[in-house]
Amino acid sequence: MIRRVAYLSIHTSPLAVPGSGDAGGMNVYIHELAQTMAGRGVQVDVFTRGGAAGEIEVTPGYRVVNLAFGPPGDGGHDALAEAVGDFAEGVARWAVRHRASYDILHSHYWLSGWAGVLLHEVLRVPLAISFHTLGRVKDATRRADQAPAGLLRLVAETEVIARAGCVIASTPTEAAQLIEHYAANPERLCVSPPGVDHRVFSPGSRREARRALSLPGEGALVLFAGRLQPLKGPDVALEAFSRLVEEVPGARLLFVGGPSGTQGEEEVARLRAAAARLGERVIFRPPVPHRHLAQYYRAADVLVVPSRSESFGLVAAEAQACGLPVVAASVGGLEHAVADGESGLLVTGWDAADYAAALRLVLTEPDLAARLAAGARLQAERFSWPATADRLLELYGGIAGP
Ligand code: UDP
Repeated sequence: MIRRVAYLSIHTSPLAVPGSGDAGGMNVYIHELAQTMAGRGVQVDVFTRGGAAGEIEVTPGYRVVNLAFGPPGDGGHDALAEAVGDFAEGVARWAVRHRASYDILHSHYWLSGWAGVLLHEVLRVPLAISFHTLGRVKDATRRADQAPAGLLRLVAETEVIARAGCVIASTPTEAAQLIEHYAANPERLCVSPPGVDHRVFSPGSRREARRALSLPGEGALVLFAGRLQPLKGPDVALEAFSRLVEEVPGARLLFVGGPSGTQGEEEVARLRAAAARLGERVIFRPPVPHRHLAQYYRAADVLVVPSRSESFGLVAAEAQACGLPVVAASVGGLEHAVADGESGLLVTGWDAADYAAALRLVLTEPDLAARLAAGARLQAERFSWPATADRLLELYGGIAGP
């Protein structure tokens, strides 16, 4: 019986607004899961850093513990790596002071995985790890001008994979990547896809959504939602869209999100400069709180996700839950999140012409668009947080002590 779990999330808090900086799908994942677990009577303590030291009871049973340590502000991952030991000590001291006895430690991302290994040693609590992204997998398809993952990250990932009781992959593709790139032991590999909150992400009136968001009422709308950085392929989305503008008059491309990662600011500046020639046809909006994104999905005609690497791609699942077809890269978790030809179209590679062709089909063939929209809703039903929590509780039970 799992009664109490500690989630480790050093580099970003589940309470941060996703869509820029370090905040994205992982924050949503931890927040949604912690709420669902707490609803099942499991006490979840999420340990993080960055904000003012203290504890926040988010909902009964779900608490965020902010430990003051390490570099100020966002820190940067290299500086945070040096502070992993301090973080682990901080968690251990907090647990002793609060007489908190955990059944499971669940780390998120490599930095927290490393802290988890240290805590697993001193607290003797079984460790589960979700990486959310993996250095070697990102490197395999990164854009040529992107910096490769550092050696420290690669070694830490390998070590955490070797030591964790359970390595949780989002999809069978990620599980296969863990074996191929890190020689993970298949016996300790488990697959558990993330979910969607269907009470928030559900179909609705396109017209009303556009009015509520002050978006043009007429014309096709292509949506890109998420962190703006080379990994997510916003450059591919823009280039593809620019090839369509003559054929789909009145069409617009809407970016919702902000810069992320070391090359984020540069990428956004480049994107804005390239978008200038298309004038009002390209709209940039800053990140919005998670639940507000549902209106954007309802307002759009298609979501474009040309990521170079993606462990799952929550935006694809959320958009489909709102009945929005998805044009996505046939890579990583997106191959599972999107049913090719049924809920959207998967594109091989990152050639803008191929994305333009797929977007053109969705935007100019109403029968296809309607069929994909219906398929999108069906596809999204496969993902829910209660199902994710059930699966994880089963996995935790498999590695927890008696
Ligand atoms: N998101 C958000 N507000 C925004 C843009 C994105 O809440 O303005 C959320 C989005 O709903 C999704 C997450 O950020 O849940 C992004 O997750 P995804 O798996 O697509 O990408 P990641 O950030 O993990 O790379």
